[in-house]
Amino acid sequence: MPGRSQITRRQVLAGASAAGVLVVFGGDKALARGAPRSPQLASDPFTLGVASGDPLHNGVVLWTRLAPEPLTADGGLAGIGNLEVGWAVARDEGMSQVVRSGRAVAPADLAHSVHVDVRGLEPGREYWYRFTAGDWASPVARTRTAPAPDARLDGMAFAYSTCQKWEEGFYNAYAHMADEDLDLVVFLGDYTYEYGIDPGTGGVRGVQLPPEYADETVTLDQFRLRHALYKTDADLQRAHARFPWVATWDDHEVDNDYTGDIPEDGTPPEVFRLRRIAGYQAFYEHLPVRAPALPDRQGQSKLYRTIPWGPLASFIVIDSRQYRSDHPMGDGEHPYGPASFDPAQTVLGAQQERWLRKQFGTSQAQWNVLANQVLFSALAHEPGPNPRYWQDSWDGYPVARRRLIDDMVGSGVRNPFVITGDWHSTFVNDVHPDFRDPASPVVATEILAPAVTSNGDGPVYGPYYGPMIQFNPHIKFFEGDRKGYVRCAVGRDHLRADLRYVERVGARGAPVETFASFVVEDGRPGAVPA
Ligand code: FE
Ligand code: CA
Repeated sequence: MPGRSQITRRQVLAGASAAGVLVVFGGDKALARGAPRSPQLASDPFTLGVASGDPLHNGVVLWTRLAPEPLTADGGLAGIGNLEVGWAVARDEGMSQVVRSGRAVAPADLAHSVHVDVRGLEPGREYWYRFTAGDWASPVARTRTAPAPDARLDGMAFAYSTCQKWEEGFYNAYAHMADEDLDLVVFLGDYTYEYGIDPGTGGVRGVQLPPEYADETVTLDQFRLRHALYKTDADLQRAHARFPWVATWDDHEVDNDYTGDIPEDGTPPEVFRLRRIAGYQAFYEHLPVRAPALPDRQGQSKLYRTIPWGPLASFIVIDSRQYRSDHPMGDGEHPYGPASFDPAQTVLGAQQERWLRKQFGTSQAQWNVLANQVLFSALAHEPGPNPRYWQDSWDGYPVARRRLIDDMVGSGVRNPFVITGDWHSTFVNDVHPDFRDPASPVVATEILAPAVTSNGDGPVYGPYYGPMIQFNPHIKFFEGDRKGYVRCAVGRDHLRADLRYVERVGARGAPVETFASFVVEDGRPGAVPA
C-alpha cells in the first residue's frame, strides 16, 4: 500500500469524514504509520466486541479490533495509521483491582486489530479485562487462566461449536452458551463462510448489506468485511466476552473443501495461495490467537498447538487443511481406489504428524481432547465391500487416519476424546483401528458438534445420512438436522457430553434443550448413553 506512510493530516481527515468517522490527531506533521497515535474517535470503535483465548496457567490472549464502521473496508479507519489502545486486567468485574495493564498497538496493516499476550497472571482463576481507545472504553469481559500443571482439580467444563454461517441462522446457540458455566470454548472450524450473501436480504437475517457482500471472498478486504459482519452479532460477542476460546479453522475460512494449495475450482495453486494467505490473515486479525497463527512470508500459519488444563485435560488442536494432500479420489463421494492407500497421502503433513505423536507420547493429562475438524470415524455410504465415502473427511485418507490411530494407541495416551465439527450433524462414534471390523477394539471416542447455524432449520442431512447409519455399527448416535453445540463436563471418573439443541435458528431467540447425554468412563473408550 504505497503512500500510506506519507499521508497528511488533511488526507486523514478527508478519508475519515468520507467514512463518516471523525478522527483528529494532534499536530500537523505527517502521520507515520509506525508511530502509534492515541485516537480521538467520534464513534465507538469497539463494534466487534472483545475476546480472549488460548489460556495458559499464567496468561491469556486478549483481542479486539478498532472498527467504528464495521461494514466498510478498513472498518471506517481507511487511511489511518497505527493506533494505540490501553488494556487492563483486573481481579474483579468492577475493574477496581487491576493486576496487569499496558498500551498496545493496533497496527493498520492488521486492520487495527489488537492481540495482547498477557503474562504474569495467577493460575486457575477468573479475570476481567477491558480496552480503551481515545475516550472510548470497551465492555468489560470475563476470562480465566488454566490451572497450574500440578493443580489438584476435580473437574472442568467446556463447550464446542462449529459451522456458524451468518446468513443461514441466528446465533441462538451462543445466547445459551454464554449463560453456561464453562471454563473454555473450543471452536472447530467454519467460523466464516466465503460464499456471496444476498445484500438485499442478508439471508434469513433480513437486513440490507453493502454490495461488497454479494461476492465470494477472495481478497483481504473481502475476508475482513466477512469477519466483521459475523463479529457484529451480539450473541457471538457475548460468548466471546464470557469465556476464553480456543479456535481452529476448517475449509470455509478460505474456500470450500480446499486442501493445502488446491482450491475447489481450477484456480492455479500459486494464485490460490494468495487467497489462502488473505483468509488466514483475516482469521488472525479477528480471533484471540497467538502470533504464530499470522501467516509468514511463505504464507504459512501455525495453528496447531496444545492447551493444557492442569493434570486433568489437554486440548490438542490440529490443522487438517493447510498441509493436506489433495483428495486422492477427487472431491465428493467415491469408493476407494489404489490412490486412497498410498502412504504419501496426508491430512496433517509430516511435521504436524511428528508433533502430534510427540503430544500423545508426552501428555500427562488424564483426558486428551483432540480438537479436530472433519469426521474422523468412517461413514460407509452403503453396505458391501467397496462403499462410497465422503472424500473430504478422514475417510478420504484411510492410511493417514490409521497412522494417527496407531500413534495414539502406541503412545498409551490416556482417554483420547475426539471432538469434531464440519458435518452440520451430531455423531457419537466409537473409534476403531479398523472401522470395517466392528470386533476390533474401541480405542477412542468421537463426538461431532451440530452446526451453530449452517443449513438452517428443517430437514437437512437426516433424510440422506440417517439410513446409512445401519451400515456403520460404530456410530452410536446420529442427528442430521438440529443446530446447537456440545457441552462437556470433565471429571476424574468420567466425561459427560450433553448435546444442546436450540429449537430453531430462523429467528432470534429460541429455547435450548439437552437432547441427549453420553458418558465416557475413565479408562474405557466409547460413549454410552447417560
Ligand atoms: Fe460447515
Ligand atoms: Ca467444513
